[in-house]
Amino acid sequence: MPLLRRLAMVAIALTCLDSAALLLNLHSWGQGGVTILWPANGLLVGVLLTARRRHWAAFLAVGYAVDVSVNIALTFAVWTSAYLACCNMLEVILAAVFLYRIISPKPDLTQRRQLVSLLLYGVILAPAVASMLAQLNTSSAAGMPLFTSFKHWFTADALGMAVMIPLYLSFRERSHFAGRSRLEVIGLTALLSVTAFGVFWQTRFPFLFLVLPVLLLLGVRLRLAGSAMGLLIVSIVGGYLTIQGHGPVAMVRGSSATSRDLLVQFFVAVSMLSLYVIEVMTAERERLQSNLKASETLFRLLAEASNDVIVLADLSGERRYVSPAVTTVLGWEPAELVGHTPVQIVHPDDVSEVEELMQACREGKPVDTLTYRCARRDGSYVWMEASIRLYHDETTWEPIGFVNVVRDVTIRKAAEEALENLAMADGLTGIANRRRFEEKLDQEWRRAMRDGSLLSVLMIDVDHFKRYNDLYGHVLGDTCLRQIAVAAQEVIHRASDLFARYGGEEFVVVLPNTDSIGAQLVAEQIRLVVEMLHLPHSGNPHGVVTVSIGCATQALDHDSVSTSVVEAADQALYQAKSEGRNRVQVAVGSVVSI
Ligand code: GH3
Ligand code: MG
Ligand code: MG
Repeated sequence: MPLLRRLAMVAIALTCLDSAALLLNLHSWGQGGVTILWPANGLLVGVLLTARRRHWAAFLAVGYAVDVSVNIALTFAVWTSAYLACCNMLEVILAAVFLYRIISPKPDLTQRRQLVSLLLYGVILAPAVASMLAQLNTSSAAGMPLFTSFKHWFTADALGMAVMIPLYLSFRERSHFAGRSRLEVIGLTALLSVTAFGVFWQTRFPFLFLVLPVLLLLGVRLRLAGSAMGLLIVSIVGGYLTIQGHGPVAMVRGSSATSRDLLVQFFVAVSMLSLYVIEVMTAERERLQSNLKASETLFRLLAEASNDVIVLADLSGERRYVSPAVTTVLGWEPAELVGHTPVQIVHPDDVSEVEELMQACREGKPVDTLTYRCARRDGSYVWMEASIRLYHDETTWEPIGFVNVVRDVTIRKAAEEALENLAMADGLTGIANRRRFEEKLDQEWRRAMRDGSLLSVLMIDVDHFKRYNDLYGHVLGDTCLRQIAVAAQEVIHRASDLFARYGGEEFVVVLPNTDSIGAQLVAEQIRLVVEMLHLPHSGNPHGVVTVSIGCATQALDHDSVSTSVVEAADQALYQAKSEGRNRVQVAVGSVVSI
C-alpha cells in the first residue's frame, strides 16, 4: 500500500479510536471514575513496528495531529491538548524504539522473548514514563497527587498497548484468527459480547468469572488475535457498563467509581496475562512438535535415500528401524529384520565379534568399523562393514541404543583377498610363497599347541640343481622347478596341508595333524612323482631330476617354538643329501606317532 494511503488509513483509525475512547473516558471522569482504555497509542506502536524507520516521522506527525485535534474538539484547551499529545507521542516512540529490534524483524508475540519485551517496554515502561510527564501538566494545574497520573493515564494506556499491539500485528499476518472461518470468528465474537454484556449488565450476581471461559475459547480457537480482540471487547463493554453503575463490580460495597474502574481494569489485566501465557505455551509446544516432525522427516529422508543400510537398535541389539536400502543390499524387507538381533543374519563365525563390538560400544570405548559376513535372504553371504555408535536420550543423555551404518563391501573384500593372494604367491611357480608358509606354520603351530596335536614339516631340495642350470641353462632350470611344483602339489590332498616354495630350488610342506609315518608317506610319494617325471638330468647319477626330503614331526609342548620343527626337517634333509640324495630322511628324535 502506498505511504499516503497508509497515512490516511492510520489517521482515520486513530480519529475513530481517539474519539471513542475520549467519549468513554469523559463519561467515566464525569462519574468520578478513571480513564478506562486508551487504545490509540497501541495502534500507532503496531503501525511503527511494521513500518520502515524513515516513515516513522510521518506516522508520528499524523498521530500527533489527530490527538491534538480530537482533544481540542472534545475537551481540553489548546496548550493542554498539545502537551498531552506530546506525552502520547513520547510513549509511542519509547515503546517503538525499545521493541523495534526485538519484534520488527519477525513479529510473533507467541515468542516468549517478544511477549516479555512487549509487556516490559510497551505495557509498563512507556506508559509509566508518559504518565509521569502528563502528571507534570495536570498536577501543576490541579495539584493532584501522583496516584492521579496512574489512574488517569497509566492503567488505560497499559491496557491499550497490551491489547492493540498484538491485535494490530496479528491482523497484519495473512492467517489472522488462525485461519478460522469468518462465521466462527463472528460467532465467537458475538458470544463473548453477549456474555460480557450479560455479566456486566446485571448487578445481582458476582458472575465476573463467567467471562473467562468464553475469553479462553476465543484464545484457543482464534489464537493471539482472538485473545486481544476478546480483551478489547471486555474492556469496552465492562468499562462502559461499570461507569454506568452496572455489573458485579458495582456490588462491591462502599466502593468509589475510581476503585470500581480499577477493578475492571485489573480483571482485564489478569485475564490478559493468563491468556497470553497460555498462548505462548501453546505456540512453544507447537513449534517443538513441528521441529520434531521436521527433523524426523529429514532423518527419514536421509536414511531412506542412502545406499548404506541404517539400523537403529536398542541396547540389547534388537532392531527398531532398518532403512529400505537393506532390500537392495541383502534382499530382506525391513519388516523381516525389525524386532530381531544380529544373530538372525550375521554369519555364525562372526557373531562373537559383532557382540564384542556392541559391548565395547556400550562401555563407551572407542570402536573401529567391523567387517563381517551377513546372510542374504537367498542364504548366500556378503561382506558388510558396520560403523556402530551409541545414541543417547536427548534430555538425560542416557544411552538408549545403537545406530549402525552398514555397507556392502563384498567387492572391496574380494579385491583385498585377490591382492592378499598375490602377495602370498610365488612368482615363478604360482604356489604359496615363503611368507605364506611362515604364516601358515605359525597358525598351525598355535592350533597344534591348543589341541595337543602333531605337526609335520617336509623340506624338499632338488638334487644337483646347480649342475642342472649349468648344463641346461636357467630358463630350463625354471621350467624344471615349475614342473616339480605341479607334480608335488598333486600329492598333497588335505585342505589343511600347504605346499610352498621355500626359496631357490627348495620347497616345504606343512602337514598339520600328521604323525611321522604319515609325513614319511607323503614325502616318499613326492620323491617318487618327481623321479617319475623323468626330467633328463645328465649331471645326476640317476639320469633324471630327483629330490631329497627331510622330514620332521613335533609333538607340541609349551617349550617348543615353531621354527624348531623346520630346523629338524632341514637337518634331516642335510642328512638325506649326505647319504646319497633322492631319498627321504626322518629327523632323529622326532619320530612320534599318535
Ligand atoms: P644339492 O644336491 O646338494 O642340493 O646340490 P645343488 O646344486 O642343488 O646345491 P645348491 O643347493 O647349493 O644349489 C642350488 C642351486 O639351485 C643354485 C642355483 O643355481 C639353483 N637355483 C636356485 N634358485 C633357482 C631358480 O629360481 N631358478 C633356477 N633356474 N635355478 C635356481
Ligand atoms: Mg639347495
Ligand atoms: Mg639342491
